[in-house]
Amino acid sequence: MDAISGICSQCGASLERAIVREVRHYEETRLMQVTCAACEQSFFAVATEAPRANPISFDEVIVAARALDHAHSLSQLFGPQFAS
Ligand SMILES: [Zn+2]
Repeated sequence: MDAISGICSQCGASLERAIVREVRHYEETRLMQVTCAACEQSFFAVATEAPRANPISFDEVIVAARALDHAHSLSQLFGPQFAS
């Protein structure tokens, strides 16, 4: 599936071979579960379809992980326009 750039915050391995699974998809925004191929640490990241130089940054991964700890719906993650 999609390849992402960056390194695992847990073990420092490249995430190029990480397992990326789409959890939720709303219009151009996708919530991805990323599992490190080296240490199997998994975390969540938000990706958009719009082309960008760096599709998923670590800042976004950290923000998404924190948001997911507290969120119970897509609207809490992405704003009221994502209410289902
Ligand atoms: Zn790792």
